[in-house]
Amino acid sequence: MGYWKQKMIEEQDRGWSSLGGKCVCAKCIEDPFLSAFVLENSIEHECDYCGRKSRKKPIAVGMDNIMEVIDEGIRSEWGHPDDEGVAYETAEGGYQGEVLDTYDLIYDKLENPFANKKVADDVISSFDQQGALWCQKDFYGLLPQDVLRYGWENFVRVVKYSKRYLFSKDMGEADFLGRKEELPPGQFLERLGEIMTEIGLVRSLKAKSLIYRVRVHEPEETYQTAANLGTPTVENARFSNRMSPAGIPMFYGAFDEVTAVKETFDPARKNSPVITVGQFRTARTFPVVDLTRVPSVPSIFDSERRDSRPALIFLHHFMRDLGAPVTKDGREHIDYVPTQIVTEYIRHLYKHPDYGIVRGILYRSAKREGNCCVFFFDCEQCCDIKKGWTEIKESYSAEKPKFWLGLDRKKVHRLVPS
Ligand SMILES: [Zn+2]
Repeated sequence: MGYWKQKMIEEQDRGWSSLGGKCVCAKCIEDPFLSAFVLENSIEHECDYCGRKSRKKPIAVGMDNIMEVIDEGIRSEWGHPDDEGVAYETAEGGYQGEVLDTYDLIYDKLENPFANKKVADDVISSFDQQGALWCQKDFYGLLPQDVLRYGWENFVRVVKYSKRYLFSKDMGEADFLGRKEELPPGQFLERLGEIMTEIGLVRSLKAKSLIYRVRVHEPEETYQTAANLGTPTVENARFSNRMSPAGIPMFYGAFDEVTAVKETFDPARKNSPVITVGQFRTARTFPVVDLTRVPSVPSIFDSERRDSRPALIFLHHFMRDLGAPVTKDGREHIDYVPTQIVTEYIRHLYKHPDYGIVRGILYRSAKREGNCCVFFFDCEQCCDIKKGWTEIKESYSAEKPKFWLGLDRKKVHRLVPS
């Protein structure tokens, strides 16, 4: 067989045509993984797309090298409709389901990974010359990220409107083939816990971390001690909050004063014009679920981190829901239920294989660029800082420390909002 014939067969098998000796530089590529690949593997001194040249160090790689990575990445989530079993009905106008050409795949589904249009054009024509058509892999199944997302949406619906306390009995129903692809409410929390462990959302919060907590009150009232600036008592936990229902007290705070004020003080409510700010210190290092540093979704081309894409796509969606603003008009008692249950799960059932029981959740403020926390410590576990306070043990145990958060009384101050 001749060389060209051989080459044609090879190209057909792999599904894309060679782009000859063309080279591309990192600046012509948007996707961070692909552009890092170019930087690491550069052996050429000129980019054929933007014309950039460098005499000293190499800046570009061959398009055929990067096409291998692009092809492998795309095929991890997209396949040919014939290979994925998409029904084809001539009378009904062709494939029965969403089938895309390479242009739509690159621009719509992959949000164009290329910074230079000419690179995108070449990639598209390389696939198109081999008759590429695309559909979601495992066409008739649910994408893993959608299983999680629908699982969460269903969980929210069930605990808000149907089974608030007995939702764990809801294990869903298998379809007629006995498959259970969905994630029923009774399994959702456990799956969420696995994701938190897999993605590495648990970390240690260092001893002596500073946490700010704010109370809004009438001018004639005074708040100066941990007893009234710390976690409210059971009697005073009268409001339904994002993470805790009325009657179950938790310590809400922020990592800076401005965020603490913005989270607590509603300028529209003019009848409570004074704010008291307390600065607390954590007594010791303890594990928390940190939702402020959830990694970004890895590139489809990143073969090492690609497996975490479904979980991370879901987590980012989940966090938007967690932080969504809720109007306090009485409906918060319903709207906060799902996050309150997730918090209860994290507090009482979740256990990290290395860190053990977690003591709180860190999350981003919905009001400004700043981080907030909710800690699972009651008012008895907060005290005013005094000599040896971190060493005091519970009366019933020589092991268990009594206090977890200490108020620095010298730093307590009042603000009068303008
Ligand atoms: Zn370039």
